Amino acid sequence: MYADEVDRLQANLKKFWSLLRPEARALVEKKGFLTRRRRLGEPTLRSVAGWCVFFNQGCVLHKVGAEEGDRFKYKPAVCALFPIQMDEQDRWYVRQRGYKREKWDLFCLDPASTSVPAAESLQAEIALAQRFAEEEDLSTRSCPTNE
Ligand code: SF4
Repeated sequence: MYADEVDRLQANLKKFWSLLRPEARALVEKKGFLTRRRRLGEPTLRSVAGWCVFFNQGCVLHKVGAEEGDRFKYKPAVCALFPIQMDEQDRWYVRQRGYKREKWDLFCLDPASTSVPAAESLQAEIALAQRFAEEEDLSTRSCPTNE
């Protein structure tokens, strides 16, 4: 998770609190919602009983964001974009079974489980990836150290 995403969750934690599983609440209260483990240099969310602390019959961050009119408002980018990801050459792709050594054997990553093309079912995620790419492009262009 990026620092601004952590700050946003921290600042809004009380909105999610009553929706968390009791064991997740207890753990977050004691140790916070981040682990010391890092992925691509950034901290990761804690899990308890095999699930992310923000999971409770679905993503609590998604649910609260949706109630406020933007389901991506509180979700870490990596979660909001799933199953879209960037490869080593900074190209977006859709994670799926049998492609780019996909490790997760999830039903939702199996192209055989649906007849709807990803370009259709992932329109919101694709738009979000596009938004992130445009923001990245703008910030790179407006950064004086890159001129
Ligand atoms: S989508 Fe992300 S934040 Fe939400 S429950 Fe899953 S791992 Fe946690």
